[in-house]
Amino acid sequence: MPDRGHATPRRLPSGDRFAEGAQYIAGRPARGTSGATRTVVDPATGAAVLTYELAGTADVDAAVAAARAAFPGWAGATPGERSDVLHRFAAVLAEQAGDLARAESLQCGKPLKLTREFDVPGTIDNTAYFAGAARRLQGQAAAEYEGGHTSYVRREPIGVVGSVAPWNYPLQMAAWKILPAVAAGNTIVLKPAETTPLTSLMFAWAATSAGLPDGVVNIVTGTGPVAGEHLVSHPDVAMTSFTGSTAVGRRVAELATATVKRVHLELGGKAPFVVFDDADLDAAVNGAVAGALINSGQDCTAATRAYVQRPLYEAFVERTAALMDTVRVGDPFAPGTDLGPLVSHAHRDRVAGFVDRARGYARVVTGGAAPGGALAAGAYYRPTLIAGAPQDSEAVQAEIFGPVLVVLPFDGDDEGIRLANDTPYGLAASAWTRDVFRANRATREIAAGCVWVNDHIPIISEMPHGGYRASGFGKDMSAYSFEEYTQLKHVMFDNTAVVRKDWHRTVFGDR
Ligand code: NAD
Repeated sequence: MPDRGHATPRRLPSGDRFAEGAQYIAGRPARGTSGATRTVVDPATGAAVLTYELAGTADVDAAVAAARAAFPGWAGATPGERSDVLHRFAAVLAEQAGDLARAESLQCGKPLKLTREFDVPGTIDNTAYFAGAARRLQGQAAAEYEGGHTSYVRREPIGVVGSVAPWNYPLQMAAWKILPAVAAGNTIVLKPAETTPLTSLMFAWAATSAGLPDGVVNIVTGTGPVAGEHLVSHPDVAMTSFTGSTAVGRRVAELATATVKRVHLELGGKAPFVVFDDADLDAAVNGAVAGALINSGQDCTAATRAYVQRPLYEAFVERTAALMDTVRVGDPFAPGTDLGPLVSHAHRDRVAGFVDRARGYARVVTGGAAPGGALAAGAYYRPTLIAGAPQDSEAVQAEIFGPVLVVLPFDGDDEGIRLANDTPYGLAASAWTRDVFRANRATREIAAGCVWVNDHIPIISEMPHGGYRASGFGKDMSAYSFEEYTQLKHVMFDNTAVVRKDWHRTVFGDR
C-alpha cells in the first residue's frame, strides 16, 4: 500500500537516530562539539523540530580522517562491487521513501506531493543511475602512439571530496554530490545547510544500511563560516564541490585555490523564459506558472524572467496572473496544497523585500503579500507576478529565490535573445516557439548550461546539470560528472628493452 502520510505527519520518522546527534562520522551518528546549537524549524508553523549540536572544526577533522582512512579500501573495490552497494542503496531508499518525503516536507515546507513525486523518486533514480554508471568509467583505448611504447589512460578517483550543499533540495543535493563521487571511488564529507540537515543524514544512514563501508560517506552539520570553511580548506581534502549562491561560491573557490584543490561550483541562476510570437500561448502560460512556482520558486533553474514577444505580451500577463491566482497556498501536509511556505521566515522576508522595493519601479500584477488567517504563522508568500520592471532593475537582475516571476515585452528575435543573456548568470533557460529555426537559434545563442524548448524544469539523471558564467562550472548528474570526480593518469610502457634509446641523443649528444 502506498504510504499516504496521514498519521502524525509532523513528526520525525520513527526509529530515527537524530537524538544521537546531527553528525555522521565513520558510519556512526555523533554530536557536534562546537559548543553551539541550531534548531530545525518547520516553516509551515514556526514550531521547533529538532535542536542539535553544530559541528566545529574538530568534527570536520574527524570526518575527514574517517574519509581518508576509508579511501584506499573503497578506491580499491572493483566497479562491480561499488555498483552492487549502490544498487542496494537505491532499494533501501525506496523502502524509506515515505519517511524521506515527510522529513523533507517537514524541514523545507515543500508540499508532500512534491517530495513524493519529485525529490524522493529523483533521488532513487539518481542512485540507480550511478549504480550502473559505476561500471562504465572509461579511459581511452590503449595504443602504440609512439612506436616503441604502449600508452593507456587510467581514470582514478581523486581522494577525499569535501562538499557543501544548500537548503533548497537537501536530499537531492546530497545525492548529486555524494553519488558521482563514491561511484568513482572517492570518499566524501558533506556539509548540508545547517537549517535543513535531516534528509542528508537519513541518506547517509541508508547508505550504511545498504552496505557502504564506514567512512565512505560522512556528514558534518555546521555553519558555513566554521564547518564549511574548514572543510573546503582542509589539507587532506583533495576536491571541493559546492552548490549554493554565487557569493559564497566565490569565497569557497578562493579557499580551495589557496590549498590547490580541484573545484566544482554549482551556483545561482536567474533563468529566462523566452516566449516568441508563434508560441502556443496556453502552453507557455502553464509552463511559466509551474516553472516559476516549483518548490516555491526556491529552485536555481526556476523560470524567473519571462520575455514575451509584443503581440502575446498583454494576454500572457493577464492569463499568467489568473492561473497564479488559482494556485492553492497552504499546509505542505494537506492533500490539496500546491504551494507550501518558503524555507524560513527570514527568507520569506527577504523575498518580500524584493517585491516591496519593486513597487517603486514596476507593477505588482498579482500576489506581493503573505497570506493571513490560518497561514499567518508560517513563512508563506503568495505567487507573485511583476510587470514593467526595467531590464537593469533589481527584480530582473538579482536572484529572488521565491515564488516571483517578472515579465517583460520584447520586439524582434534579436532583442529577445539579447535580453535573455543579459544577467551575469547562465544556469538554465527556455524558449517557447513552434518554429524549428527560432528554437534552434535560441538553443545555440542562449548562454546557459541547459536550454529547454517548450518546457521548463525537467531534469534527468542521464543528462548533465551545471552552469555557464556566474552560475559556475562543472557538471552534476550524468556520466559527465565523472570528469569532475576523477583524474586521468597516462601510463606509458617501453616495449623495446633498448638500453640507449633514440631520444637519449637529446641529452647525451649524438655520439
Ligand atoms: P548559500 O550559498 O548561502 O549556502 C550554501 C551552503 O554554503 C550552505 O551549506 C552554507 O552553510 C554554506 N556556506 C555559507 N557560507 C560559507 C562559507 N563561507 N564557506 C563554506 N560554506 C559556506 O546558498 P543557499 O541560500 O543555501 O542556497 C540557495 C542558493 O543555492 C541559490 O543561489 C541557488 O541558486 C543555489 N543553488 C544552485 C544549484 C545549482 O545546481 N547550480 C542548485 C541548488 C541551489
